[in-house]
Amino acid sequence: MWEILKERLQGGGRVSTAEAMALWNGASDTELMDLAGIVRARYHRPDHASYLIMAIVNYTNVCVARCDYCAFYKMPGQSGTYLLSFEQVCALIDAVVALGGEMVGFNGGFHPDLGIEHYTDLFSRVRARYPEMTFYEMTVAEFMFVAKRNKVPYAEAAKMFADCGTRWITGGGSEILVDSFRLRHSPGKYKVEDYYAAQQAILDAGMGSTGTMVIGFDESTEERFAHIERLRRFQDENKGRLSSFLCWTYKPYHTELGGAEVPLSEYLRWLAICRIYLDNIVHIRTSVLTRNQDALVGIRYGANDFDLPTEDEVTRKAGATISHDFEQILASGRALGLQLERRAALLPWSARGGDIPAAP
Ligand code: SF4
Repeated sequence: MWEILKERLQGGGRVSTAEAMALWNGASDTELMDLAGIVRARYHRPDHASYLIMAIVNYTNVCVARCDYCAFYKMPGQSGTYLLSFEQVCALIDAVVALGGEMVGFNGGFHPDLGIEHYTDLFSRVRARYPEMTFYEMTVAEFMFVAKRNKVPYAEAAKMFADCGTRWITGGGSEILVDSFRLRHSPGKYKVEDYYAAQQAILDAGMGSTGTMVIGFDESTEERFAHIERLRRFQDENKGRLSSFLCWTYKPYHTELGGAEVPLSEYLRWLAICRIYLDNIVHIRTSVLTRNQDALVGIRYGANDFDLPTEDEVTRKAGATISHDFEQILASGRALGLQLERRAALLPWSARGGDIPAAP
């Protein structure tokens, strides 16, 4: 079957969900790498990949969502809660800058006491102090909570953020975007179609967003495919406005759910499936944050981009180890025959025309 699919992909066609599942169940690693390479070549040069240095700044660990796979959150009133002041946030940004970083993503819990103006004020002040830096200001999940907590419709909330200069509300907090999974592990977070309604409002307000996924909980193969199937449809409907897709792996340590880490071989195969199936997303990113230098092998499985993270308390609390020896990580990629280029931060869809770019 894979010869037929190869010919179709070479002609610019796409695989169905059933065909992607058949590949997942039956194709060899070499076949998956080959097919992923064909789709990758529509957008990127073979053997080339890009990266940037960034950090996640976790501004609060107070959260009322209570996801059972999370080792980071504290309930309001519990000991060990924090909400960083502006100067404390800046100190963490300074630490990224000192390590040569050019981007910061903000990520916090669902803090029940913060109004929209807390966020718009924080982001405005941060952008004014660091005009050369790029910020991923929020995740879709946080945006949803803030809008609901303030009783503001998504379209209105998105306009408020866009009007204050917010450029990115990224697809973080999506894990497995299937209601059966959400019901099992984070019933208080959101419903899937509500998530997409919020992300639609974000894009429609002119801000950028991304797709993400986390594998390795107890999700079924069908749930994984349902996640990427809905995502591909959303991206089709939006004519390529999501800038990138990042899949990382669940870290099970110190969480209520527990479990074991996904083997590297499974992560790499899933990256290849994502590259083949998500043919309407230009950038497929591999996760150094959760796989360290092994993530760079993912470039051979269809990924074309990665972060060198300097900090993320959420994944670190669940067992991730973050290395600042960037040269060692990059050397492992070069040993695979890859040419790795540091890149500038991506622009949101509204600043790049909105359509999928032509192949190089
Ligand atoms: S994953 Fe996010 S939303 Fe869920 S409990 Fe942790 S901080 Fe809260």
